[in-house]
Amino acid sequence: MTTSSADISPNYQEYLRRLPKVELHCHVEGTLRPATVVELATKHGVALPTTDVDEVYRYSTIYEFLEIYQRVNSTVIDREDFARIAYETLEDGVKLGNLKYREMFFNPTLHTARGIPMATVIDGLIDGSKAAEHDFGVRCAFIADVYRQDPPEVARQMVEEVLAHRRPELIGLGMDAAEAPDPPEKFVEAYRVAKAAGLRLTSHCAEDGPASNVTTCLDLLGCQRLDHGYHILEDPAVVARCRDEGISFTVCPTSTAVVYGWPDLTTHPITKMIDAGLQVMLNSDDPTMFHTDIGTEYVRFCGQNNYSPALVRRLVLQGVEASWLADVEKATMRRAFEAEIDKLDRELLG
Ligand SMILES: [Zn+2]
Repeated sequence: MTTSSADISPNYQEYLRRLPKVELHCHVEGTLRPATVVELATKHGVALPTTDVDEVYRYSTIYEFLEIYQRVNSTVIDREDFARIAYETLEDGVKLGNLKYREMFFNPTLHTARGIPMATVIDGLIDGSKAAEHDFGVRCAFIADVYRQDPPEVARQMVEEVLAHRRPELIGLGMDAAEAPDPPEKFVEAYRVAKAAGLRLTSHCAEDGPASNVTTCLDLLGCQRLDHGYHILEDPAVVARCRDEGISFTVCPTSTAVVYGWPDLTTHPITKMIDAGLQVMLNSDDPTMFHTDIGTEYVRFCGQNNYSPALVRRLVLQGVEASWLADVEKATMRRAFEAEIDKLDRELLG
């Protein structure tokens, strides 16, 4: 795929990287630094195909990718490990993309199915996010994801177990993994339990499934925003509805360019969603696994599309708007972002 942004000025690249950012679509399991994977594997005696940090995330098919995903996560075992991976990815977000706030996915059953207690996962992740907030000022909340290939009953039990270990930082329920074989209506019960307990709701949808999954997620599951959503473009009526209702979509340029074969970011469905007036904001998805980070997503996507500073500012602020922060916190963050962007305008765009 095209990854260079040589056609935009170094100042504009720096501008895109240094913009303050919110991220709402990032899976902690896809953020492990290769060196950390190797260290954790050594610590726990887990065998890896390679201990060369440059080779850990080398794959050529989606099947190899999924195998690496499982194997990498099998190295994360105790509370300190979960704390470490949360801390490190937030540090990376700050240093590589001026990340200010993230609502981060985790897949509880990916861990509980291999015998890790739910409390170890949740408490560890929150330990790490608190330490990152202390050291870097970045804030983080968490969204537990249903794994679509789990049976509905396993998903419902997962939600109940998450609620039994609920902490204030755990704010929502999401859903990921292969969409086509397991449509959203399969998990209506898990979403009902989450909604009744006051969790916020989102779901990966219309990623590799039809536009009708958008309608299902909104009307049947009660989702308040959606992740990906590219196949919405196949149904103008659903596009019009989401535009009119101001539904936010958390979109991911690089990961989908790789997985779905959309290497040219100037024709990526995200550009058409923006042109159609949908509310989108940019994210890194599984950053280390896709050799990206939140700063690079802005540099690549906005750079290659020659987006104006005004449009880029709108995308950044849409991240604040689409977040599940309280209204008063959103207003405070919006003001801080506007001031920081104004300063960057003066410094780098003159
Ligand atoms: Zn995702």
